[in-house]
Amino acid sequence: MTAQSAAHRSTTDRAFVEHHKIVIVGSGFSGLGMGIKLKDIGEHDFILLEKEAGVGGTWRVNNYPGCACDVPSHLYSFSFEANAEWSRMFAPQKEIKTYLEHCARKYGVLPHVKLNTTVQTLRWDESRSLWRIACENGVEYTANVVVSGMGGLAIPSYPNVKGLDQFKGKMFHSQQWDHSYDLTGKRVAVIGTGASAIQFVPYVQRKAAHMDLYQRTPPWILSKPDRAMTWLEKNLFKRFPAAQRALRDGIYWTLESRVLAFVINPRLMAIAKREALQHIRKQIRDPELRKKVTPDYTIGCKRILMSDEYYPALAASNADVITTGIREVRENCVVTDDGVEHPTDVIIFGTGFKAADPIPPGVVFGRNGQDLGEQWKEGPEAYKGTTVAGFPNLFFLMGPNTGLGHNSMVYMIESQIAYVLGALRLMGQKKLRSVEVNAKAQSSFNADLQGKVSGTVWNAGGCQSWYIHPASGKNVTLWPGFTWQFRKITRRFDAGAYHLAAQMETDAQATTASPSFVNEVSA
Ligand SMILES: Cc1cc2nc3c(=O)[nH]c(=O)nc-3n(C[C@H](O)[C@H](O)[C@H](O)COP(=O)(O)OP(=O)(O)OC[C@H]3O[C@@H](n4cnc5c(N)ncnc54)[C@H](O)[C@@H]3O)c2cc1C
Repeated sequence: MTAQSAAHRSTTDRAFVEHHKIVIVGSGFSGLGMGIKLKDIGEHDFILLEKEAGVGGTWRVNNYPGCACDVPSHLYSFSFEANAEWSRMFAPQKEIKTYLEHCARKYGVLPHVKLNTTVQTLRWDESRSLWRIACENGVEYTANVVVSGMGGLAIPSYPNVKGLDQFKGKMFHSQQWDHSYDLTGKRVAVIGTGASAIQFVPYVQRKAAHMDLYQRTPPWILSKPDRAMTWLEKNLFKRFPAAQRALRDGIYWTLESRVLAFVINPRLMAIAKREALQHIRKQIRDPELRKKVTPDYTIGCKRILMSDEYYPALAASNADVITTGIREVRENCVVTDDGVEHPTDVIIFGTGFKAADPIPPGVVFGRNGQDLGEQWKEGPEAYKGTTVAGFPNLFFLMGPNTGLGHNSMVYMIESQIAYVLGALRLMGQKKLRSVEVNAKAQSSFNADLQGKVSGTVWNAGGCQSWYIHPASGKNVTLWPGFTWQFRKITRRFDAGAYHLAAQMETDAQATTASPSFVNEVSA
């Protein structure tokens, strides 16, 4: 706890309350990036609450065999912390986790992190203009500002299959891989064909006696331009950081150009489609299997995946791709709609995450006790993916419509962090008690955004994807434009779109917040 913060007995049922200016939830790229930038501007009165036993977020909890990034690592990393040591163009999970741990250590964020601390509820306390953060361990924190870095792809999604509770074998989701369970000689059912599945399927096929892959919709897959980084390249990057910067910029603009096809003219996707079809032909001989894995929707409608190992794994003699729907699961088999029983020892869910529903009801309560999860039942919506009317002093990193189908999420996260810093600076300079986006600004921003997204391949490509909210049919996950356009609109905190509440005389007594809230710093 820092000098500015205070701990005192609670008047609520919580045994202990600790106050900080800023509480960050989560310690992935978002939470750590926010913490690092706060320290950078001289703000040290903050904590990061993390439910896991270590930092790293996505890259700590997803550790299934084959897990790696699909945006080249020289770009998929913080702009301020280049890593000349990436072993491959697309680094494996372990390296990305180690990189994030290194960043947390190097920039002095670790002492601010409280591990094994799950946030249960966030409640806006109107009378004191602060957030009450209740944790599962019984501790309550209060904060003037909360930054959520809880992640957009953090809550596993499971299929609604009859009889799963009857299954006597082993079951786990890719995000909760049980490394102590040996798949050797087992009959494995893999359900799902998303980004995680295509990475772990080759491993499962090599280990298992037999693998059944249950596929609802095949993904479009391109060859992955992965390779080991050479000793020469690593040394070049170490000695001449500008060379690595040039590579990073090159990757960024190459990926950015894909927006032309995704958003502006979906017909340009024909080139990618040709490549993907060629990839199938090259890697699979059996015409029936080729047919099964060839998608019938526009390429790009679902996330385009990359792998050179997936199709060969499906073509192996111990693998079957099952496209008939699953009727039910019994004690030791999966039964498909045609009545066939498929003997099964273990079920692995490669069914992804609840991306369109990142905050369940009963977690975040804003002004007048309104429940954000309830409000977002028809799909989450925020202003610039970051703030929500009725929820003052609360900022989301990787919030609604900030996801990407073509570029690095770290770029979006860093853009949002700059926006939050702008808000904090203004709060300090003008001695503000709270900032809250106007409902009108939020709805007009989203009307414009939904107008733009409606013509994209994600909405009009004829597929069912996790980009689209199941209840409203709205695309609530993706940013429909160039990432530099997002950076442009988040570069400055646009106070005109916000209701600003001035600090009252009594506020300083009511809370332990410093009235000089980050006004002494410049970023
Ligand atoms: C397997 C996989 C591969 C990916 N590959 C790429 C890629 O190649 N390129 C790309 O751009 N993006 C990729 N992504 C997207 C990725 O999620 C983002 O790039 C980025 O890592 C998100 O960081 P984050 O900090 O916002 O969220 P996360 O990394 O998900 O971190 C959220 C953190 O919040 C914690 N948390 C959540 N709820 C609570 C709570 N109630 N209390 C306390 N702590 C809580 C979690 O434990 C977690 O540590 C991938 C995602 C996955 C799942």
